[in-house]
Amino acid sequence: MSFPRGSRVIDAGGSLVTPAFIDPHLHLDLAYSLDLVKPNRTGTLTEAIRHWNAAKKKLTAANVRERAIRAIHAEVGFGTGHIRTHVDVGTNAGLRLTEGVLSAREACASLCDIQVAVFLQDGLLRDPGAYEQMRAAMDMGCDLIGGIAHNERTDADSRRHIDMLFDLAEEFDADIDCHIDETDNPQSRCTEYLAAETIRRGWRGRVTASHVCALASYNDVHARKVIDLLAEARVHVVTNPGVNLHLQGRYDRYPKRRGLTRVSELLAAGVTVAAGQDCIRDPFYPLGTGQMLEVAHLLVHADHMTLPRQIEQAFDAVTTGAARAMRLRGYGISRGSAADLAILPVSDALEAIRTRPIPTHVLKNGRTVAAGRRAGR
Ligand SMILES: [Zn+2]
Repeated sequence: MSFPRGSRVIDAGGSLVTPAFIDPHLHLDLAYSLDLVKPNRTGTLTEAIRHWNAAKKKLTAANVRERAIRAIHAEVGFGTGHIRTHVDVGTNAGLRLTEGVLSAREACASLCDIQVAVFLQDGLLRDPGAYEQMRAAMDMGCDLIGGIAHNERTDADSRRHIDMLFDLAEEFDADIDCHIDETDNPQSRCTEYLAAETIRRGWRGRVTASHVCALASYNDVHARKVIDLLAEARVHVVTNPGVNLHLQGRYDRYPKRRGLTRVSELLAAGVTVAAGQDCIRDPFYPLGTGQMLEVAHLLVHADHMTLPRQIEQAFDAVTTGAARAMRLRGYGISRGSAADLAILPVSDALEAIRTRPIPTHVLKNGRTVAAGRRAGR
């Protein structure tokens, strides 16, 4: 085989060469903030939101930037080439967190491509003023409209929340990635409204539903209806296995629910499912390293994905499936695609997920950006 002059050849020696991993759901503004926030004694999402609310008032953009850069470096060391992060805006967060994350994205532009979704940790209807902050954050350079539909006072407010996200998405011609039904409550019914609005507004293929935990608690008849609706609307689903296992099931005695959405049923219906890290050492989840193979490993356990085909699906959830959810162009190993690659010293996806090795090489646009080093976790 011949190579253009000046090319550098890496002999992968029979290793697995994969398109770079993708983390489709991360909170860079929260990363490594665990020690800045009061301990989460109940381990619930609501207590984490409360403590984070108090802590974020004091955060500077510089502090957010520093922690975000640390997290991006950790992800890249594990072979991640693309991240979608959510950044907290609202009357408490202001725009300081956005400023910090956008500055970190710029500093790491040669290492990793980062999409930024504006996010309303404290809700929209229950945080008057947040809507204007979202608009300002989009003007600063954020890419997507995010939300947290289930975190409103009433079902009617949750629906209004979704309406307002679509209004803003239309204004900025932006895609949507909304935290939704992140609860075990079987009465939480935001996802079907999101899917219905996606169809009504002509936004098919441009919307991601993150978490969708309540789907696992619906009865099978209603779950079927919602899954079919998601498929019809071409809404992508992002599950966050570590965080869902950790935060959900907290009100259960025994048996305790796992908290994840119905991953295998969604896949069987043709819905794109991706898996994210969500949190790295923060008040919502004290663990998390930024290694997408660890996320896939958790997914395999949590959804019983142990057949060869299912192992491939778990690997896809942090590679090609995530690329579809994020609508990446030029992703994959093919002529004309960007050389965003990870080389893993294993034979196949099963061995990669089973042993979770550090990549021997991580390439971004053909340039080696990490090589066999254990990135600072
Ligand atoms: Zn999240």
